[in-house]
Amino acid sequence: MVTVQYYNRVFPCNEDQTVLEVLLENGQDVPHSCKMGVCVTCIMKAVDGDVPAKAQEGLRKSLAEQRHFLPCVCKPTTDMRIVNADLQDLFSPALVKDIEYLPRDICRIFLEPATPLYYHAGQFMNLRREDGLARSYSLASVPSLDDRLEFHIQRHEGGQMSNWILDDLKPGHHLGIQGPAGNSYYQPGSADRNILLIGNSTGLAPLIGIARDALSSGHAARIELYHGSRTVAGSYLDDQLRELESAHGNFHYTACISDELAPKGYRLGRADELAFSDHRDLKKWHVFLCGNPQMVSSARDRAVTAGAQIADIFTDPYELKDLRKTPRS
Ligand SMILES: Cc1cc2nc3c(=O)[nH]c(=O)nc-3n(C[C@H](O)[C@H](O)[C@H](O)COP(=O)(O)OP(=O)(O)OC[C@H]3O[C@@H](n4cnc5c(N)ncnc54)[C@H](O)[C@@H]3O)c2cc1C
Repeated sequence: MVTVQYYNRVFPCNEDQTVLEVLLENGQDVPHSCKMGVCVTCIMKAVDGDVPAKAQEGLRKSLAEQRHFLPCVCKPTTDMRIVNADLQDLFSPALVKDIEYLPRDICRIFLEPATPLYYHAGQFMNLRREDGLARSYSLASVPSLDDRLEFHIQRHEGGQMSNWILDDLKPGHHLGIQGPAGNSYYQPGSADRNILLIGNSTGLAPLIGIARDALSSGHAARIELYHGSRTVAGSYLDDQLRELESAHGNFHYTACISDELAPKGYRLGRADELAFSDHRDLKKWHVFLCGNPQMVSSARDRAVTAGAQIADIFTDPYELKDLRKTPRS
């Protein structure tokens, strides 16, 4: 048994517990989201004690050197004294340049960061409202092709951030941005590997970025993108994807509709089902899976069964914050 000291309170922590579990169990209202070491929402700083290497995986070098760590994957091996991360270390400002509202309660937002940002298409960032509310969103833009950062946001019924973005955020406002993070992006030096991209709803955001990045890098092998939505109206950026398909012989786009009759040019069924029935042998393929976490998890298993190497499967599950235990007033 070790202890975790959070400001003036000290909590016992057993060897199976993460720092985040200990804090939440003891009623500390700390920001968190995915609980998997992915979204970086819960990041904190260790003042004393050893920081396990796993708790710093994927963090920017400068943050790791300042002893920042991710409480959700940190199982302490010594007593730790921890404090909140200083927001100035994490977030920098970005100007909202434009917002495009699309059918099915989706919007594209375009941001201009105050300082240049190095990122890969397909990574994600945390966007923060002035009052501190923050959520993760995937980058749809490609650094070598686009001047602005682009994100696609889908409304969640009762969701705090998505409703605020769709209803209240306006061009001229500022947001805090943190990141980028995530390792789901086009792998340089892989021009001869076929690529399978599967996503539903705004899971398209990182996929379209990865596809454009690959094509602009001269990717020679096949790129197959399957985008799933319930209705034709939800098949957003359809025109842009069809144009990309006409311009590049190695890029194929399949618009998958699951809840209504599929007109000409669309296919009836779920994106993952159709993709795996079309591509039964995925040996040496790179596979990218984005969006609904259940779909990402089951598609990952199916990709392995079809012969893809685990190291060649890149995932971006859109985990929602688990708010069920804390009813909203
Ligand atoms: C790595 C990553 C990348 C992501 N990329 C994208 C992206 O590109 N585009 C995108 O649209 N999303 C993305 N997401 C999801 C995004 O981060 C948010 O989770 C999403 O926008 C919902 O946030 P919210 O604040 O609107 O909802 P929240 O307020 O967090 O609510 C989440 C859900 O819980 C429900 N809920 C809230 N309170 C309660 C309660 N008391 N009881 C029961 N249910 C409740 C809400 O109805 C909602 O459905 C990503 C997530 C991750 C982790």
